Amino acid sequence: MNDFKAEPEEIREAMLVAAKRVLDSGWFVLGKEVESFEHEWAAACGVAHGVGVGNGMDAIEIALRALDIGPGDEVITTSMTAFATVLAILRAGAIPVLADIEAATGLLCIDSVQRCISARTKAVVLVHLYGQVRNMDAWSALCNERNIVLIEDCAQAHLASWRGRMAGAFGRVGAYSFYPTKNLGAPGDGGMLVTQDEAIAKKSARLRNYGQSVRYHHPELGMNSRLDEIQAAMLSARLQWLEEFTQRRRKIADTYRIGIKQPLVTLLSAPQESAAHAYHLFVVTCEVREQLQAHLQSCGIQALIHYPIPVHHQEPCLDVARDPNGLVNTDRHANVCLSLPCHPQMSADDVALVIAAVNAFKCD
Ligand SMILES: *Cc1c(COP(=O)(O)O)cnc(C)c1O
Repeated sequence: MNDFKAEPEEIREAMLVAAKRVLDSGWFVLGKEVESFEHEWAAACGVAHGVGVGNGMDAIEIALRALDIGPGDEVITTSMTAFATVLAILRAGAIPVLADIEAATGLLCIDSVQRCISARTKAVVLVHLYGQVRNMDAWSALCNERNIVLIEDCAQAHLASWRGRMAGAFGRVGAYSFYPTKNLGAPGDGGMLVTQDEAIAKKSARLRNYGQSVRYHHPELGMNSRLDEIQAAMLSARLQWLEEFTQRRRKIADTYRIGIKQPLVTLLSAPQESAAHAYHLFVVTCEVREQLQAHLQSCGIQALIHYPIPVHHQEPCLDVARDPNGLVNTDRHANVCLSLPCHPQMSADDVALVIAAVNAFKCD
């Protein structure tokens, strides 16, 4: 699913130069490298402010806390996501409410979200699952009409855009992760909030650092979720390749869409425009998913499941509130989804091998 060792040697060299610069500087946490990477990433997202934090989960928690969303407030999101999305809502002290997904994309279903809205609903955390950004006019309109804050979980959507606007630029806050396997990944943990709102950026910058305003002054209770200089410097080096790598992911996906002709396999809906998908994952569905996965494994192809156990089946979340109509599509998707390899280090031969293996699959 990933092959970091096959990355171009120039990336490794650029990362070593960046790491050496930090070691030589003698300054390791929240400094010039973080500041400059914050500017670079905010600019890449087309927003005014970026606040580097420890990881993607903290970016969501800090966003909620910066917006004063906490105990007694409901936040609607999806159960088909990394556990971190819902854990961040719980860590902020708010009440998660799980809406169902659309079968064709795996993304939050707007009708289900509407059924989940109550007088206590304060925010929707919209997850751009697998890298897809869709129907943002509808989400913005709903949130405006109902006076709900839109927060985007962009952990899988680096450089995905919709009608020329980048993921993270639609909501009050966009939350990014730079975990190693993400489309822009650090050799370690990292995350960032992006926002147009200066007050939210300032409050987030305090919250990530014990709630400190100026040194030794703590007007609020924050957390410790700072971005390291060495991660920021290396992320900034890796950012130079992100556009090229994202194009490569799109090319692989296009090749899959043309080449996969297997009656037992259904592809998710194509994006509304090419740029609206960053293809963090290329996901298909198959009623005999385990058999398909085993067949691919026997052809030397790793395929993984995102996600096999939705959040509402995780032990601490069995009682979490949800759409009164149930999470039918979520449960179904969890049983049939399979992620095919789709990363920038795949060669044309690798892609052809995956297509041939999928097309050769027969179920017993
Ligand atoms: C990875 C991920 C996160 C959490 O990011 P971390 O940096 O691992 O904390 C949150 N949401 C989604 C959708 C993710 O894929």
